[in-house]
Amino acid sequence: MCPTFNLDVILDAAIFAVLKHHGQVRKDHSASPYVSHPLAVAREIYTTGQVTDQVILTAAILHDTIEDTSTTADEIQAQFGEEVLAIVLEVTDNKSLNKQLRKWLQVIHAPQLSYPARIIKFGDKIVNCRDILHTPPNGWDLTRRQEYIQWAADVIFQIRGANTALENTFDSLLRQAEADLNFRLKSFQSVDTRPYAPQEGGSSP
Ligand code: NDP
Ligand code: ZN
Repeated sequence: MCPTFNLDVILDAAIFAVLKHHGQVRKDHSASPYVSHPLAVAREIYTTGQVTDQVILTAAILHDTIEDTSTTADEIQAQFGEEVLAIVLEVTDNKSLNKQLRKWLQVIHAPQLSYPARIIKFGDKIVNCRDILHTPPNGWDLTRRQEYIQWAADVIFQIRGANTALENTFDSLLRQAEADLNFRLKSFQSVDTRPYAPQEGGSSP
C-alpha cells in the first residue's frame, strides 16, 4: 500500500476530533473515550479497505463531529475544506428526527451516497457491529443487539459493491453475529417489516 496522504492533515483531524469529542464516552461497560470510535473507523478503512485517499480518511475521523458535538459546518470547511465537509454532512443524521425514522432514512438514502460516504458507512457499521458483539452498550439485551445488526445489514445491503475487502469483513461479522447472538438475519426483501420501518397508514418520510 502506497499512502498518498499528508500525515499532518490526518493528525490535525485526529487532534480536532479528540478536542471535539472530549468528555464523551462510548456506551460500553468501560465507558471508552468516544474518539476511539472515529479513529477505529479510519483505521478500518485504511487497513482493511486499503483506502489511502486523504479526503476520505480525514472525513472518517471527523464523521461524528457535527452529529454528536457542537462542531459547525463552517469550522470543518475552514480547517479541512469543502470536499471533507460535504462527505461529513452526507453521513450526518438529522438529530431533530426521531431515532426510528433516522434509521429508516439511513436505509433508504444509502443508494444516493457518494463513493467516499459509502466507504465511511462501511467502516462505521463494521466498527459498531464489532462493538455490539464484543463490547455492547450497557443494558442492551439480546433482541436489541440482534435488531442493531439487522439494521446495519439493511443499510449495507444498499451500498454493496463499494469495496470488496470491507464488504467481506462486514459479511464475516454478520456470520459471527448470527452464531454468537443465535439468530438468522432476514433478507432485504422484508425490510418493510422491520421495527424501524414506517407503519402502514403513517406519514411517509
Ligand atoms: P442507539 O442508536 O441509541 O445506539 C447505537 C449507536 O450508539 C451506534 O450506532 C453508535 O453510534 C453508538 N455507540 C456508542 N457506543 C456503542 C457501543 N459500545 N456499541 C455499539 N454502538 C455504540 O441504539 P438503537 O439503534 O438500538 O436505537 C434505536 C431506537 O430504538 C431508539 O429510539 C431506541 O430508544 C429504541 N429502542 C430500541 C430497543 C430495542 O430493543 N431495539 C429498546 C429500547 C429502545 P455512533 O457510530 O454514532 O457512535
Ligand atoms: Zn460513527
